[in-house]
Amino acid sequence: MEQAYLNFHDSLNDFLAPSLQNQVIACNVNRRASIKDVIESYNVPHTEIDLIIVDGASVDFDYIVEASNDIHVYPYHSAMDHAPRGLLHHLSPPLPPHPRFIIDVNLGRLARYMRLLGFDCLYCNDFDDHSIAEISNKTQRIVLSRDRKLLQRKMITYGYYVRTEIPKIQVSEILNRFKLHALINPLTRCTKCNERLAKIEKHTIEHRLKPLTRQYYDKFLICTGCNQIYWQGSHHKRVTRLIQKFSGND
Ligand SMILES: [Zn+2]
Repeated sequence: MEQAYLNFHDSLNDFLAPSLQNQVIACNVNRRASIKDVIESYNVPHTEIDLIIVDGASVDFDYIVEASNDIHVYPYHSAMDHAPRGLLHHLSPPLPPHPRFIIDVNLGRLARYMRLLGFDCLYCNDFDDHSIAEISNKTQRIVLSRDRKLLQRKMITYGYYVRTEIPKIQVSEILNRFKLHALINPLTRCTKCNERLAKIEKHTIEHRLKPLTRQYYDKFLICTGCNQIYWQGSHHKRVTRLIQKFSGND
């Protein structure tokens, strides 16, 4: 049987069975298989991959694997970020300057935290995989998911497999992966529905406030989507601490 030799680099090893991590994997070349299919047969979603180098040349996902190919697969933010740019074929188009997200159904707390930081995050707990892939495809939203099968859908160009299960650490992961720190704009977006917040005069909403809130607070924001009212109430300190933590300022 003829074989090709696969090397997954850096964080792509997260997807491999422990016995295959950080070593050369010999795979059989027994049909006309694209390199995308070969890579995904190891459950590495294409959305994680930035570069594929075969026998020293940069190739795209349609490359047909041949016997004895020496294949190196790199994620984003790998050592290859520092290689000469002109010769390399990066596999995803550059991200838009203000990335927007669509978040998988089981990551609701991540969605709320990201909205708290001002990021546009579509989230609905009854989205199915097909809807998520389709919306991402049509709107260029980045899919955030812990379901690698979802990220393997061909339709999805931009995606990220969220490694940890702990929501606050998930936020740091996303900020680092997409280099978002400079774009943090806290308390500008509704954590419930994702629409923008706007300033509102107290007297126009006074009838909706509880007596103590009316007595002690003067500055209010309202969601332009669902009309939820926000003010610097008792949870404000906690929210401020959270924002500092996410921004790396604590
Ligand atoms: Zn809202």
